[in-house]
Amino acid sequence: MKTRAYAAMSAGSPLVPFSFDRRDVGDHDVALRVSYSGICHSDIHQVAEEWGPAIFPMVPGHEIAGIVTSVGKKVTKFKVGESIGIGVFIDSCRTCSSCEAGLQQYCLKGMIGTYNGMEADGKTVAMGGYSDVFVINEDYALRIPSNLDLRGVAPLLCAGITLYSPIKHWKTGPGMQVAVMGLGGLGHMGVKFAVAMGAEVTVLSHSPKKQADALAMGAHSFIDTSNPDNFKAIEKKFDLILNTISAEIVIDDYLKLLKLDGTLVVIGLPGRPYKVNVSTLLNGRRRIAGSMIGGIPEMQEMLNFCGEHNILSEVEVINADYINQAYVRTVASDVKYRFVIDASTI
Ligand code: NAP
Ligand code: ZN
Ligand code: ZN
Repeated sequence: MKTRAYAAMSAGSPLVPFSFDRRDVGDHDVALRVSYSGICHSDIHQVAEEWGPAIFPMVPGHEIAGIVTSVGKKVTKFKVGESIGIGVFIDSCRTCSSCEAGLQQYCLKGMIGTYNGMEADGKTVAMGGYSDVFVINEDYALRIPSNLDLRGVAPLLCAGITLYSPIKHWKTGPGMQVAVMGLGGLGHMGVKFAVAMGAEVTVLSHSPKKQADALAMGAHSFIDTSNPDNFKAIEKKFDLILNTISAEIVIDDYLKLLKLDGTLVVIGLPGRPYKVNVSTLLNGRRRIAGSMIGGIPEMQEMLNFCGEHNILSEVEVINADYINQAYVRTVASDVKYRFVIDASTI
């Protein structure tokens, strides 16, 4: 299937128009016309090889919302014309204990990523969602509630699920003090979900100009972390801290904000190790944990939750020829709050 896309041809190079062939629609496959494709900071890290050696040409994009254009003979989950979503992985081994538990993101053999890796056949380079069409096995695609606008849905497929999953796992609800570090694509979804679950939510941001937006999204308070003096007043305040910061930070400053038995969940992945001051952990039985996206059942649950509560990502829709500027602006924390490519402009 002829596919138009935007690709980085080598590490750190600007994205340019690029064509390739996707596989034909197999018996269990669904083909879609991509409507919108979100720009995740993980795309930027991988194009820049900040996570180690990557595969080029690279077509990034793992926040995909589109419309089904054809289905294979044995497909039962989708019909032509329905809206469909694709996230960070397109397959997994299907037989390990994680896959059997619906936690495909933790597949013991490694999930099959939407790009920057090999497809399930082991020989085709997976090409992501900055493209006009896509082909996927129906088991790894999601249904999108019909009341939701696809522009704000695309980022739910990574940013949304990546915050929904730890918010559910750590049983966020009324009476809990939750902090979200970084009000970007992931962070703003964390605010919306934690507020929807009934928690008291604080945004910890180094961009004071985002305060009004944070409160409009439902956050109860906003702390400007660019002023170190502001940390003292919120020491030992939080049950749960969700760290979505894409850059290197001094994690100890934030660990001190946990109350007894509190947990700081690392979600942001700058690509370098943190230095942890162990005495800060001991004092208060504090924990550091990690969390990675979410599995297929939880992604569907999240999309249904968004349909019921009318939750969407806040987006700036762009044409494909603006991708490189969007990367620069995302790194500068200058996006409200996710860039989404209108795939009809690719
Ligand atoms: P993003 O939209 O760029 O948001 C990151 C936020 O971090 C910025 O908006 C900014 O928030 C804050 N920040 C950036 N530079 C900073 C600095 N120097 N000091 C302090 N704060 C800074 O990125 P994203 O798409 O949400 O992704 C965030 C991170 O999560 C990335 O590292 C990405 O790779 C990772 N990620 C992880 C998973 C997972 O499964 N765990 C999934 C997707 C993405 P303020 O302006 O409010 O300070
Ligand atoms: Zn992502
Ligand atoms: Zn598996």
